[in-house]
Amino acid sequence: MLNQEVDYDVTGNAQHYCLHCARYFVDLRSMKEHFKTKIHKRRLKQLSEEPYTQAEAERAAGMGSYIAAKKVEVKTQPVEENME
Ligand SMILES: [Zn+2]
Repeated sequence: MLNQEVDYDVTGNAQHYCLHCARYFVDLRSMKEHFKTKIHKRRLKQLSEEPYTQAEAERAAGMGSYIAAKKVEVKTQPVEENME
């Protein structure tokens, strides 16, 4: 998803995309500003607390009645600084 083809129908030609929130931004600055928002941080937190894949969720469910929340580290995607 990071190296997408240019799509002129999408905001910012699809070059600035937050993978976690599935949102497009007009430019790198807008995307970086978004990374600082509560919405984005909440999304990262939410992702870190969800089972990583459906398969893992099913495996966890099969291991007993107690299902621990899977902790995965979710970080903001890297941005290419030289694009500014
Ligand atoms: Zn985001």
